[in-house]
Amino acid sequence: MNTKDKIVVALGGNALGNSPEEQLMLVKQTAKPIVDLIEAGHDVILAHGNGPQVGMINLAMATSAESSANTPEMPFPECGAMSQGYIGFHLQNAIREELLNRSMHVPVATVITQVIVDKEDEAFNHPTKPIGAFYSKEVANELVSKKGYTMVEDSGRGFRRVVASPKPIDVAEKETVRTLVDNGHIVITVGGGGIPVYRDGNQLVGIPAVIDKDFASAKIAEILDADYLIILTAVEKVAINFGKPEVKWLSQMSIEEAEHYISEGHFAPGSMLPKVQAAIQFAKSKKGRKALITSLEKAREGIEGLTGTIIVSK
Ligand code: ADP
Ligand code: MG
Repeated sequence: MNTKDKIVVALGGNALGNSPEEQLMLVKQTAKPIVDLIEAGHDVILAHGNGPQVGMINLAMATSAESSANTPEMPFPECGAMSQGYIGFHLQNAIREELLNRSMHVPVATVITQVIVDKEDEAFNHPTKPIGAFYSKEVANELVSKKGYTMVEDSGRGFRRVVASPKPIDVAEKETVRTLVDNGHIVITVGGGGIPVYRDGNQLVGIPAVIDKDFASAKIAEILDADYLIILTAVEKVAINFGKPEVKWLSQMSIEEAEHYISEGHFAPGSMLPKVQAAIQFAKSKKGRKALITSLEKAREGIEGLTGTIIVSK
């Protein structure tokens, strides 16, 4: 890492937890490695997931709409916008506080961010993205018949609603984010992968979907001409033969190696696969760009090059 790099940090579910209390507590820890980067002189742009949060908001709104004629149905993109505000509120305050604890005066703000997708993206034909709470098979079946949701079994943890996961094409607020970053602000953007919208003339129209935050992070990193994409998740390194006795944790992958491992099916779709794909996409986009996948707990060491999995173009 150079003295002053532009770094997009993508936070996973473990950085935020599952309830407001938990989130408020966890973001204090999350803020530390982020402020380390800022203190080291880097420009930091923050992205984050929102699966549990948007699911919770969506479920709460749907439940009250069902039981009260005074509560309107809240569309899914609006729930996404709410989740960006809710998560951004906690994150920006935690980072601000950590900065002030170190006597650093750096402005931090969240930009409600819309990400443009193709309305005809073939992803809309087969929804894959799990959101919200886990349900028993019985409740899941009820939601399928009552709401027309698509429900799938998620890694042995129960059933979840799935929505489409289209690819990000562009970031509607990119000029704003760029201006803030160029002026030394810490920006939280593309929260939850951004609010998915499509262009219809001069209008941006929200669409019920979840853009993968790993892909949206790679996209904003490309747009901002970042040097680094750092994906912080629950594992310290990426592995091949993950979950098998012959598991091998990787410190580095070339793009070619990463693509080869993908073709061999080493990375779970919906969890590690999009991270590796996003890392490849970013590292490929311009010479010198690097992507790092490591855990939130090991972020500090990962950034110093001591752990994690780095993906570089040769
Ligand atoms: P996040 O909320 O950070 O996006 P995910 O749960 O979506 O986290 O993805 C990270 C998870 O991917 C890890 O906790 C790990 O269990 C799983 N995983 C799947 N395949 C692999 C692999 N090949 N190497 C490492 N972790 C993997
Ligand atoms: Mg994920």
